[in-house]
Amino acid sequence: MASDQKSIAQIGQRAELLDGAPIADQIKREVASEISQHWPTPETRPCLAAIIVGDDPASAVYVKNKIRACSEVGIRSEHIALPESTTAPELRELIISLNSRNEIDGILVQMPLPASIEEATIIETIDPAKDVDGFHPVNVGRLALGRPSFVPCTPAGIMELLTRNKIAVRGKNACVVGRSQIVGRPMAQLLLQHDATVTICHSKTQDLKSVTSQADILVVAIGRPGLIGRDYIKPGATVIDVGMNKVSDESAARELFGDDAERRIEIIAKRGYTLVGDVHPAEADEVAGRRTPVPGGVGLLTVAMLMRNTVKAARLRRG
Ligand code: NAP
Repeated sequence: MASDQKSIAQIGQRAELLDGAPIADQIKREVASEISQHWPTPETRPCLAAIIVGDDPASAVYVKNKIRACSEVGIRSEHIALPESTTAPELRELIISLNSRNEIDGILVQMPLPASIEEATIIETIDPAKDVDGFHPVNVGRLALGRPSFVPCTPAGIMELLTRNKIAVRGKNACVVGRSQIVGRPMAQLLLQHDATVTICHSKTQDLKSVTSQADILVVAIGRPGLIGRDYIKPGATVIDVGMNKVSDESAARELFGDDAERRIEIIAKRGYTLVGDVHPAEADEVAGRRTPVPGGVGLLTVAMLMRNTVKAARLRRG
């Protein structure tokens, strides 16, 4: 029996939780140490410009977390908040000016943008050398060619989680559910580069569970709370749950969280919602070998990888 499958003795044991926090902290410590060694003078340190358009509360929290992480590791940052009424030409003009400023190493435009602004055009305006999110077609193309420069932060963080937990990828069956530009597609590319046999599923995939249940490594990024239940998971598989969905209904929480339900219901009472991934946590724990929790799994790594990409951008541009 392969080492990543549950043995008979292990059946009945809950999946091991893959905690993102210690790995995110480790990556941030590595980045901080590289910064202090390479740029001893604070004024010359790498600088990230983070642009937010409009007043979406979730986006505001994401940007705040990124700016806070910058100050933790010693990256300088510029937080640029623009009104909802900002036009595409105005945003492009701002990005062009940031492209030309030598002291700016990374440019991040928080998505989603207001409906009136086409995201693809904005992404294409960013200098690929400052595209720390890895969304520019030049960086997407380089990743597809196996010559990555900037890899999108969430899939890059997932690879770190697998590698640092010594989870073998080479020769394994990996299945990615979701084919978005920011998670699914780059995730599949990275798994392929690490010699997995990769299948990509999406909303038109027929009999999804017959595909996912073959996977030794199952990565799910679909935005459907708890969809991936026990029948979708191969016994002993490593299940990476990228989804971040709000659940505010007590009975749904009771159904999803098993032993953890009471704690989650308290969180709902306090905050109005609790977060659940795309994987059904209680059912997955009966079958999977390992699972990333939500919250506390993949999300923490995304910000850590943004810090790493920003330092990489500074190194590549400034030496
Ligand atoms: P997205 O752009 O909305 O893409 C969703 C993908 O899932 C699409 O490819 C869609 O297929 C597929 N899909 C939807 N329903 C499906 C179903 N029932 N069966 C199979 N495939 C299905 O989503 P995203 O931006 O990748 O985000 C996915 C989730 O991850 C969201 O919950 C998001 O909040 C979360 N997320 C978390 C982080 C983090 O740092 N933790 C980062 C990014 C995203 P089609 O292509 O056929 O439409």
